[in-house]
Amino acid sequence: METASRERICELSRHFHQLGWMRGTGGGVCLRDGDRVYLAPSGRLKDELIPDDLFVLSLAGEVLESPPSATGAKVSACAPLFLAAIEQAHAGCVIHGHPVSSVLATELSTDAFRVREFEMIKGIRGHGFFDELMVPILDNTSHEHELEAPFRACLRQHPNTQAVLVRRHGIYVWGEDSTEAKRQAECLEWLFEAVVGVRRLGL
Ligand code: ZN
Repeated sequence: METASRERICELSRHFHQLGWMRGTGGGVCLRDGDRVYLAPSGRLKDELIPDDLFVLSLAGEVLESPPSATGAKVSACAPLFLAAIEQAHAGCVIHGHPVSSVLATELSTDAFRVREFEMIKGIRGHGFFDELMVPILDNTSHEHELEAPFRACLRQHPNTQAVLVRRHGIYVWGEDSTEAKRQAECLEWLFEAVVGVRRLGL
């Protein structure tokens, strides 16, 4: 499982980098395996990660293992938010990225992205075609770790949400495992693109 978790993070990082979620070292992925949390260091190109580059944290955020391959590597600034989603939303995998579609989606509303009657809504846990999908939007902060308090408050307010948008920044999306997190991330990106496209058409 240890090797599989490390390889899965590298695979997901390459995948989402190719989708434009992790350009210029941005974004990240974490996986929970029991009471261990695997995640990438900050400032690394996400399409070049290797399994030895990862940190292992406890659920409380203590560093259990540092990457032997990079002296001076720092834990990703996303870590406090990843740990909050694991603790409060019972996430097994969290993906953070800066896809342009998510940033445009945050321009459409002050408090939340809302959509209904699109087929891809079915890809989000607990939702059917006619249900309203709502993704809360937080205002961005100067530093990623400063998002932790508003992020935790948002999860308390919306305990069933599977994602949180950050205005003009990006998105945090999760699932009970990496398969669900990946599916929900891809479906949300599709929905952001569709809704922004419909607005562009003036419909
Ligand atoms: Zn970010």
